[in-house]
Amino acid sequence: MKILCVLYDDPTTGMPESYALETLPVIEKYPDGMTLPTPEKIDFKPGELLGCVSGELGLRKFLEDAGHTLVVTSDKDGDDSVAAKELVDADIVISQPFWPFYLTRQRIESAPKLKMAITAGIGSDHVDLQAAMDHNVDVVEVTYCNSISVSEHIVMMILSMVRDYHTQHAIAKSGGWNIADAVKRSYDVEGMHIGTVAAGRIGLSALRKMKPFDVHLHYFDRHRLSADIEEELNLTFHDSVESLVAVCDVVTINTPLHPETENLFDEVLISKMKKGAYIINTARGKICNREAVAAALESGQLSGYAGDVWFPQPAPNDHIWRTMPHHGMTPHTSGTTLSAQARYAAGTREILECFFADKPIRDEYLIVHGGDLAGTGAHSYSKGSATSGSEEAQNYKK
Ligand code: NDP
Repeated sequence: MKILCVLYDDPTTGMPESYALETLPVIEKYPDGMTLPTPEKIDFKPGELLGCVSGELGLRKFLEDAGHTLVVTSDKDGDDSVAAKELVDADIVISQPFWPFYLTRQRIESAPKLKMAITAGIGSDHVDLQAAMDHNVDVVEVTYCNSISVSEHIVMMILSMVRDYHTQHAIAKSGGWNIADAVKRSYDVEGMHIGTVAAGRIGLSALRKMKPFDVHLHYFDRHRLSADIEEELNLTFHDSVESLVAVCDVVTINTPLHPETENLFDEVLISKMKKGAYIINTARGKICNREAVAAALESGQLSGYAGDVWFPQPAPNDHIWRTMPHHGMTPHTSGTTLSAQARYAAGTREILECFFADKPIRDEYLIVHGGDLAGTGAHSYSKGSATSGSEEAQNYKK
């Protein structure tokens, strides 16, 4: 079989010769008891760069020993890209949300042999799920592999935005010492109202991690958490996103991107937020309206916006979120720490081992299976596609 693997570029200085840490901490289980990936074997050292082209997710030996062909590229945007050309006779395509190979309907229809799209990570919105269902292409992701990585990033972003870390760090780096400049937008998080839109694996973990900061916690989700969890965290449930945003100082967004959540934070919803609130969005860029966010930061309706997700990716060089005031954006990194890479590379291998051995893939990894939403996909997504406009990614210039 032919496996096409689309990964981000290697470091500009080449692959590292050594790493900051020699080993990774051992994680026994995910917080809800789910087991970490269980491949029969791995051919990489956890803690090394695996998500870039030379890292190859540690898959080459395994695939070639079994007689398969592996094509790895970072060239993914536009009809002339290597990935678009290699896709036409590929059986399996692997892509990561950080550097997504947008599998639009047109691309899925260009690949008659395509059987499965694997997301090495979480979030399969870069695949036109409706087209995948229509063409019987299974879509799977490595559920939970980087949920905790992201919730750590959320805590970092909440603290850094509310305390205005970025301004202070810039002053220190530039040789300055104006304390008033450094603190004129700096607050404590203590006592604030913090709310998550969606309390799934990431949202709930972010709530748990924020609890020791003595804040008031809120959530909105389609399904209510258990009474035990609500009590443990002293949580306030909201039955609409409008109700949540009206009272929260910080709103963190943790839903998948699908037709129900696309453009959810538009001008109208942002105008219903508490004045001067902060948004932390590590879910997907397209859940927030690009221009509405920038305008709200200009007017003061929002005090800050941070996260790591953009639309499309890579973000065009002139994407307004690169230059708007009071933002704390990073490129899409929160779910691809070296720790997370080891888990999703192992999970990708587990999925491939199951597929080749004709064994069922874990239910929790399934998004689309047998022409319909399945597993985690049936719980967390809705039918349709959120890939429109992805062709703009080719405007990015290195
Ligand atoms: P989960 O499936 O555990 O949680 C998703 C939650 O979103 C579920 O509780 C689901 O509710 C809820 N939800 C779905 N649609 C809606 C809606 N319309 N309104 C309110 N709630 C909704 O996934 P994770 O928490 O692990 O990940 C969430 C998302 O975070 C991913 O889909 C991905 O887009 C993003 N992510 C980003 C990463 C990064 O590197 N920045 C890495 C990993 C993930 P219910 O099931 O109750 O219906």
